[in-house]
Amino acid sequence: DRSTLARTLNSLDGRGYAGYKQLRGAHDLSADDLDADDLAGVRLVVDHVQVDPYAPPSLMRVQVDRRTAALPEDLLEDARGRTAVADFLTRRIAEAVKRLSPTQPGDGSIGIGRPGQQVIERTSVVIGEHDVEARLHVALPASGRRIRGRAAARLLTETLPRIVESTLRHEALEAEALREHVALHRDQQQLRHQLAEVGLVAFVGDGAVLPRRSGDSDLPLAASDAVPFRSPESLRVSFTLPSGRQVTGMGIPEGITVIIGGGYHGKSTLLRAIERGVHPHLGGDGREWVVTRPDTVAIRAEDGRAVTGVDISPFIGALPSGTDTRRFSTTNASGSTSQAAALVEAVEAQADALLIDEDTSATNFMIRDDRMRRLIPAEQEPITPFVDRIRPLHAERGVSTILVAGGSGAFFDVADHVIALDSYVPRDVTDQARALADPGAGAAEDAVFAPTAPRVPAPDSPRGGREPGTGGRGGRPKPARARGRAVVQQGKQDIDLSAVSQLVDPLQTSALAHALDRASELADGRRSVAEIVEELIRRMDADGLDALSPHGGHPGAMARPRRHEFHAALNRHRGLRLV
Ligand code: ADP
Ligand code: MG
Repeated sequence: DRSTLARTLNSLDGRGYAGYKQLRGAHDLSADDLDADDLAGVRLVVDHVQVDPYAPPSLMRVQVDRRTAALPEDLLEDARGRTAVADFLTRRIAEAVKRLSPTQPGDGSIGIGRPGQQVIERTSVVIGEHDVEARLHVALPASGRRIRGRAAARLLTETLPRIVESTLRHEALEAEALREHVALHRDQQQLRHQLAEVGLVAFVGDGAVLPRRSGDSDLPLAASDAVPFRSPESLRVSFTLPSGRQVTGMGIPEGITVIIGGGYHGKSTLLRAIERGVHPHLGGDGREWVVTRPDTVAIRAEDGRAVTGVDISPFIGALPSGTDTRRFSTTNASGSTSQAAALVEAVEAQADALLIDEDTSATNFMIRDDRMRRLIPAEQEPITPFVDRIRPLHAERGVSTILVAGGSGAFFDVADHVIALDSYVPRDVTDQARALADPGAGAAEDAVFAPTAPRVPAPDSPRGGREPGTGGRGGRPKPARARGRAVVQQGKQDIDLSAVSQLVDPLQTSALAHALDRASELADGRRSVAEIVEELIRRMDADGLDALSPHGGHPGAMARPRRHEFHAALNRHRGLRLV
């Protein structure tokens, strides 16, 4: 029982930090006195013990019997329900940890992968057949490099059980709040996966709060400062969702939608909310009812990135250097080539809608005006601007586009819908824009988006080679790791993901780090980039996110990215080599 673990920890007091190693394995956390059998059958499994007090924390799992947790069975019937329940418990544990974990550095601390505003699959809580498992990281207490055994005993046999009692035990469960959390998630996901059937790319609910508190915050702007969303009548749609809830708002149809309006009238804010709408959001976020098709991809210019073997010929023809743009590679893309590559890669990753903001686009990729067309003959200009390709992209590949363009009316000629924002309030101005359109523009052409050959990474690519000093005896390279949301470090390579805007959580980046290692193992000179990603997705669907981890037990804190972000990470890797 619990006192056995306490005795062990007390006996380690004053010893060298390495003494903590003997904690590895399973411990019984049930209370010692028979009256308080509240945590009967609760186990602590120590998977990894940090080598010193300054190393990343130790990895531990707490397992609670499903009967002790007594979660309502009807909430666990479907994958959506299980994701939402696990998310709910993670948030409760994160709160309890904040409340109860020691604050003095020497006393150690307990943590859990902290969720943001999105409700997505995570490794933090897993609901298994027999138990509910919480994955924690624990900094074990030290004084200098000596073990503080008594503090460790307090941390693991008093604080930790208190955290478990107040979160994972049936008596602590806030059943109503849990039910609401699950219903909201199921409703959102149902709507998200229903959009394609009704011919919509995105839905923005009336009353939604789109702006965020600040540029570096994902929290909603205070309700008193925000203008809530209101749909224009011509685009208004309603849905009845599984819980019986009815939502009404603006439906953005398939095809080409252009968002216009004066500077600072909320165009980018709307597009950004739609971009984030691929992920389900927490109640109270303001974007609960901003719901976007799951395969919608935001693309932008990103000069300086690497591009490997991508067919950008629909946009970029013969280059002055004589480079073949049907299999284009560079270590330093320009604004226009990077945006063309991002678009073609998104389509390869099965995107069915694109989101593009003028603020983050290369002008020469997007448009070319009349006077420029007259001065520079077409055969001297390698770039065919997006405005000339946006319709073929929809006609040939079924890819819709939502575009913010406040600075040019060039897209009026090709738009199905034009939405104007006026002080954050949208208006359908399609008819007025059409009256200004040039009827001759956008004439039909031969197919431009021909099917391309799959891109096949060379064996062991993108990792490639062994980094000296990390392998030893030709052994295993160091695992890749995330540094914040925007960087994965693999060997000597830093993969820059700052332009991958739908990667929203640093724990998704941690998942991508593991995924890159697994991708290198899968690369055998036969599997394509797409097939490698599909294999990773198959494994995650079968075994959860744990499948990305190189070892059993605690896989580390991760959150699940979409297919598109796996592609984005592989495609930006400077070590990617194709056969
Ligand atoms: P645009 O892209 O049209 O130039 P932005 O989307 O960047 O404009 O918005 C300009 C400012 O207005 C931002 O600071 C944003 O947070 C704020 N804003 C956007 N939408 C709203 C809204 N509905 N209510 C209040 N403020 C908003
Ligand atoms: Mg803008």
